[in-house]
Amino acid sequence: MTGEHRIVVLGAGYAGLSAARQAAKAAGARVTVVDARTEFVDRVRLHQALAGQQVPRADLRKMLAGKGIEFVQGRVERIDAVARRIALADGGSLGYDTLVYALGSAGDRSAVPGAIEFAHSVAVPEDIARVPALSGRIAVVGGGATGIEVASELAESRPDLLVSLISADEPGGWLSAKAHNHIRAALDRLGVRVLTDAKVAAVAADGIALVGGEHVPAETVLWTTGFAVPRVAAESGLAVDPRGRILVDEELRSRSHPDIYAIGDAAVIAGPDGRDLRMACATAIPAGTYAATAIAARLRGKAPAARKYRYVFQCISLGRHDGVIQFVHADDSNARTVLTGRTAAWFKEQIVRMVGKVAQA
Ligand SMILES: Cc1cc2nc3c(=O)[nH]c(=O)nc-3n(C[C@H](O)[C@H](O)[C@H](O)COP(=O)(O)OP(=O)(O)OC[C@H]3O[C@@H](n4cnc5c(N)ncnc54)[C@H](O)[C@@H]3O)c2cc1C
Repeated sequence: MTGEHRIVVLGAGYAGLSAARQAAKAAGARVTVVDARTEFVDRVRLHQALAGQQVPRADLRKMLAGKGIEFVQGRVERIDAVARRIALADGGSLGYDTLVYALGSAGDRSAVPGAIEFAHSVAVPEDIARVPALSGRIAVVGGGATGIEVASELAESRPDLLVSLISADEPGGWLSAKAHNHIRAALDRLGVRVLTDAKVAAVAADGIALVGGEHVPAETVLWTTGFAVPRVAAESGLAVDPRGRILVDEELRSRSHPDIYAIGDAAVIAGPDGRDLRMACATAIPAGTYAATAIAARLRGKAPAARKYRYVFQCISLGRHDGVIQFVHADDSNARTVLTGRTAAWFKEQIVRMVGKVAQA
């Protein structure tokens, strides 16, 4: 190889930072990270930020400089895969030899009338800044992990609020009976009113209209269901799924443009049984490390080792003193072991600390 090989990583979230850190170890490579933000904010702690707690932040330029990685602040608009150049919103551009696409995801409120105007997402740091001061009745829409964490965190930290959780299915219903029964008991203990079999028909200034006609009054509606990925990949002509996520091969290379690797929420990554892996930092971090290892192997003229992946558990916090850790089999199905209560809260906190460190270390 002659000259330095320029690896450009788009996105400084869990996936992008783990890829950049690993890529910086490759001989002969120069690594640049591009992100619209100047700070890394632990996205998995956004429910805590919403409840008024301080969450860790890190200056990206300083953090990456310490590892010999260049940082460019800018919003990526387009990839010219033929010229191998990235166009930024400020008119700047950047060339690359290998690209790692890790632009993540954001909340999507477009599915229900009124949600864009009257509901607030809790998906990216900027969302938290847009949520008005909370008071009175809070309706949290979505019984997935984020909805459960948001509802329980708010109910615990802000006992002055009346929190409802509105969900089409039983909150945590995909977990074992022990885990989802514990979640329901914790929500009850914290005074969260849980509405199941409840589908939102529309959101208005005074609350939510459910399919069937019931009105759920709320001063603030928090939307935790539905994620969208940036349109950059689709608009740049990369092969994507109907949601705009990049289709990748086993090596995490774009199926249409193999010199572009795609990782994290913005990619469709197959698990050991062929099913899509979850949109989770538990997927994003190992995918980032693997992609960078594969790039380094290719630079040495070697075929990368096969990607191996399995989940071990799924963890959900229920405020600061309770939680659920559901252990899973290799195919992500529920195992018998479930931790609950303070042990689970402690376990989840250790995982979140580790995740923050993995992204930043
Ligand atoms: C409240 C909450 C709790 C969560 N808890 C958990 C949990 O406990 N466990 C778990 O595994 N997962 C959890 N998740 C999901 C997890 O946060 C995501 O799956 C993870 O952040 C995906 O990582 P990523 O690197 O792909 O994307 P992101 O972390 O979203 O990073 C993407 C980066 O790309 C940048 N970017 C985006 N578009 C552009 C652009 N056009 N130009 C420049 N930069 C751009 C963004 O600024 C961002 O820094 C949680 C999510 C939320 C919202």
